[in-house]
Amino acid sequence: MEPLRTMFAITLRAAVLTAVACALVACETTTGSGAVGVNRSQLMLISAEQLDQMAGQTYNALTAEATKKGQLNTDAAMTARVRAIAARIEPQTKVFRPDAVNWNWQVNVIDSKELNAFCMPGGRIMFYSGLIKQLNLTDDEIAIVMGHEIGHALREHSREQISQQIAAQTGIGVGAALLGLGGAGADLANQGYQSLVATKFSRTDETEADRIGLELAARAGYDPRAGLTLWEKMSAAAKDAPPEFLSTHPADANRAATIRSLLPTVMPLYQAAKPKGVAG
Ligand SMILES: [Zn+2]
Repeated sequence: MEPLRTMFAITLRAAVLTAVACALVACETTTGSGAVGVNRSQLMLISAEQLDQMAGQTYNALTAEATKKGQLNTDAAMTARVRAIAARIEPQTKVFRPDAVNWNWQVNVIDSKELNAFCMPGGRIMFYSGLIKQLNLTDDEIAIVMGHEIGHALREHSREQISQQIAAQTGIGVGAALLGLGGAGADLANQGYQSLVATKFSRTDETEADRIGLELAARAGYDPRAGLTLWEKMSAAAKDAPPEFLSTHPADANRAATIRSLLPTVMPLYQAAKPKGVAG
């Protein structure tokens, strides 16, 4: 078969497989829609439990390595600050999915110049000190980043992305690792890092995470208008060298417009929740 026709056949097969899997068993929506209205149906070909196991091993490997290098939670004040913000946001996740409040939430800070942060499946949060220091983030802005990252975890975007790769037959390695065919735990952790941290999210995923993140931050009493200043700072930083964060979370020119359009929905949630004595 000609290469083009082969490619077409593979694409068609993936599309048919996706459609069939969706029609039969594997489609679900991971969250309630919240005030911001996120309810897209998602293809899931691996279980949340499989991915949770991989995420646990990956996160443990990452924190162990940072500890070994003397880079884990070295700045006690910064760690306390990030954990305090997480503690206010975590209870708000029940709006989107009641099970999330019972996740084993973990929040740590790695001392690194990298401008990065993520929340792995199951509530495993990591902030890199470079993001907070170099962008001089306010608590509100940290809350927006955290809400965004938690949004990806609540929507199980990584699980969906791996499922799509399996459907398109490009995720064989991670599929084998998840099924226990990939050998030792180090392989699983390595595959996990590639699949859970280093992978680019789609524009659709980004918009969903923005919407959910804004609502989470607002309900936790953080000013959702910080979404606008955060992404301005991020874009400015990208002019020198693109932050790691932007390579995995592709920026969209419409991001600010999306945030602005949601402010009338989320500002009242913020006004109702913000600590007394805070102006604005
Ligand atoms: Zn993102």
